[in-house]
Amino acid sequence: MSTVSGVTAAVLRARLARARAAAATAGVDALLIAPGSDLRYLIGGSGTSFERLTCLAVPAGDAPAVLVVPKLEAPGYAAVPFDELGVELVTWVDGEDPYALVASRLGRPVRVAVGDVMPALHVLGLRGAVPAAEQTLAGPVLRELRMRKDAAEVTALRRAGAAIDRVHARMGEWLRVGRTEAEVGADIAAAIVAEGHVRADFVIVGSGPNGASPHHDVSDRVIEPGDVVVVDIGGPVAEGYNSDSTRTYAIGEPRDADVAATYAVLQAAQRAAVEAVRPGVPAQEVDAAARRIIADAGFGEYFIHRTGHGIGLDVHEDPYIVRGNDLPLEPGMAFSVEPGIYLPGRWGARIEDIVVVTDDGVEPLNHRPHELVVLPG
Ligand code: ZN
Ligand code: ZN
Ligand code: ZN
Repeated sequence: MSTVSGVTAAVLRARLARARAAAATAGVDALLIAPGSDLRYLIGGSGTSFERLTCLAVPAGDAPAVLVVPKLEAPGYAAVPFDELGVELVTWVDGEDPYALVASRLGRPVRVAVGDVMPALHVLGLRGAVPAAEQTLAGPVLRELRMRKDAAEVTALRRAGAAIDRVHARMGEWLRVGRTEAEVGADIAAAIVAEGHVRADFVIVGSGPNGASPHHDVSDRVIEPGDVVVVDIGGPVAEGYNSDSTRTYAIGEPRDADVAATYAVLQAAQRAAVEAVRPGVPAQEVDAAARRIIADAGFGEYFIHRTGHGIGLDVHEDPYIVRGNDLPLEPGMAFSVEPGIYLPGRWGARIEDIVVVTDDGVEPLNHRPHELVVLPG
């Protein structure tokens, strides 16, 4: 039995079988999946073609699944054990109509579900080739599989968490007075790879007023004594699973007198949200646990995003930890718990851990201290 991206063919076969069953339950005749994390989840590999159609068609019934791929992209799928997966590989060359090729494998579908990240170009191309079929999204079908991580997936997430913790542990090497956010960010990106990731996917270094912008990138702002700095970093490990962790640092004694008390509120909120995680608890209650503490302290209007997002092959995926999501948490669900307080024009702070729901509670995958880390200027 072969292995691809650290996943055995047996596991991939089981995922494909569950995808068929989930499609049938959802009342769709076939899932049509373009390159991206859904494709990697189902067959263990994914290329990056854009204008040339690559499409995995997974019928709800017994017909074989088929990967339609441009002949020149096929080598990118050499590691995929097609025979063991029961997936047929069909290549096409420029000048052929790949949409007709997919349509010819579908019979007479009434409803097809296209992957959430399929380019509109191909969604409309497939519509033209199967005009009688209603199109819907495959995301809601596949998220039922992807949300619940198996033991191997949790192991990969745990490895990613440990790797990003090692980067945070080294922050004092780089985050110093007189350096720009961009210089610090370049060092962090190199360390993300050196500590065991395939690449750095994102590096946020939000110093001083830039920390009040949750999705700040890096800039040429120079780190000053007394700055509070939000560092939010992550990337995938070899199995494709991602890390994502935020810690907030102070460069010497914080300049603003309100930092210690405000940060204490945030730390209490993050802890309360993690402690709220266990099977059966609705996702929105984890958000409420953090938000209540921040709002009661008078900072409600400065906590301007949801408390967390699922994580796996994508950095942001289901389940979302947000008001209105009454999905009960289940063992194997993995997501961030990352409340923040953002004071426009002044400073901001965020604390982010990835956690996994266990049979009777929660396992945090990040273990760096949650206190404001004061670095020597
Ligand atoms: Zn974010
Ligand atoms: Zn993050
Ligand atoms: Zn995050």
